[in-house]
Amino acid sequence: MKLFKKLTAAVLSCVLIIGGVAAYNSYGEQTLRVGLERYYMGVQTVTAKNTSLTIAYKGGSQKLDSTSGFTFEPVSGSFSARRQFSSMKDALESGNAVYDADGWCSYIAADGAEKETASETTTAQTYFEEATVLPNAEFVSETTTQAAAHVTAAPADTYTYLPTAIKVTYQGGSFVLNTDGCVTLTSADNVIDLGEMAYRGKIEFTSVGNAINTVNILTMDQYLYGVVPSEVYPEWPQEALKAQAVAARTYAQYHIGKHSNYDLCDHTHCQQYSGYRKEEASTNKAVDATSGEIAYYNGRPINSVYYDCDGGYTLSAEEVWGSDIPYLQSVPDPYELNARKWEKSFTLDEITALAKQNDMDIGDVTAVEITKKRGDILAEEIKLTGTKGSDVIKGQDIKTFFQKDGENLWSRAFTVSGSSAPSNNVYVTGVDGSADNLRLNVVSAVDSKGQVTVLDDINCVLRGKDGDVVISASGGTLTEAHDSIVFSGTGWGHGVGMSQCGAYGMAEKGHDYKEILKYYYKGIEVK
Ligand SMILES: [Zn+2]
Repeated sequence: MKLFKKLTAAVLSCVLIIGGVAAYNSYGEQTLRVGLERYYMGVQTVTAKNTSLTIAYKGGSQKLDSTSGFTFEPVSGSFSARRQFSSMKDALESGNAVYDADGWCSYIAADGAEKETASETTTAQTYFEEATVLPNAEFVSETTTQAAAHVTAAPADTYTYLPTAIKVTYQGGSFVLNTDGCVTLTSADNVIDLGEMAYRGKIEFTSVGNAINTVNILTMDQYLYGVVPSEVYPEWPQEALKAQAVAARTYAQYHIGKHSNYDLCDHTHCQQYSGYRKEEASTNKAVDATSGEIAYYNGRPINSVYYDCDGGYTLSAEEVWGSDIPYLQSVPDPYELNARKWEKSFTLDEITALAKQNDMDIGDVTAVEITKKRGDILAEEIKLTGTKGSDVIKGQDIKTFFQKDGENLWSRAFTVSGSSAPSNNVYVTGVDGSADNLRLNVVSAVDSKGQVTVLDDINCVLRGKDGDVVISASGGTLTEAHDSIVFSGTGWGHGVGMSQCGAYGMAEKGHDYKEILKYYYKGIEVK
């Protein structure tokens, strides 16, 4: 027999944790709420492929089996129900109750159709599986004897689904959890399989605005199992993996509460987290070996930022983000292995356009050179020479100045060269500063006796000490021109804190994870 029990007072199984406060499970382990923004946030439907799940909602929970899995979707509108008694006893005593001879009774389903319940031997479990849940109602179990008593339909009552109602479809049919709150899934093997991705711990659905938001609730180390292999190669030496595990744990700790409805998201905005299927034995081992360990500065968890590679020199937080953080200083990085290389080329016309965009009044750009470096690696100052003058770009502005297709330069560790195939464009600058762009097809040399010799290699130029070719006694100059300027660099990422390729290189050289962390984060303690 199906019965609903009106909830009287406190019902809470879903309490949203306020951001910024660490939560703990019943084993005393710290838990995190991770917003699954990459695949399951604001979606119309989510399917769990588990064959058995415990579904908890405001006011109760049920364990259900389904070989076809479970689908969750938001639902809106209204529904009717013909009975609403707080207990079987209430129904019997209501005076309106009439018992069917055959032991069946009817109710109105979510689609509006009138249906009969199952036979008298059916338990409350079945009703839960078939029926619409009343607002703020929970299911109660009843004995077969109780189920044998049936109630005919009372006048139908109409209810409206709460904005948070979630419809669950599974092998046994479908039902709606018209619950004011969220729905949480757990499985016996502690992994929820959502198809594209699978997650340890619990999954929480919240229906908001006719879409489902999905949050993964799990322990810090379970979360790190899915972070570390997303951030570094599991084949790397164990000490590099341990350094990454501590950096990722510390980073998570520092950034808890970055989002309002959950602690962290699952992409690079917080940290890349790819769940259960991404896990590897080597990275899980590194997480376990460092369990609970965090990097501190002055007794507080640090903002342990990290990145792919720096090309030979890290950057300070001050020069990149404008705030001086004592443990995030610029240090030489001789350790990087397999650092990513990049190349970007610009035509002189493109650089001229960039100069104009940046209000540089230097005419057409004719040359680009690095005029100052840090440690002979990092570009500190770039000089642009134009037909009307020159100007410089300094520090981090270098990365953003040379923007192409919406992308900055990927690091400041680079060299600049002209095109490997200089064109036959030349710039002639007169004494008055006026400029002309000439295309020379034939270059001739004229000696002091007036003898003219045609030079068959038009790239052959006479260079003065400043690189220019003197072509007339009146002071004009001829500059070799290139079609393009090529930046060839190493490095990827913001460059502040720990280099992952550097951690790899240090581990290969025999340094342990604490040495690695202390090299990139100055003055810290790991404990
Ligand atoms: Zn985030």
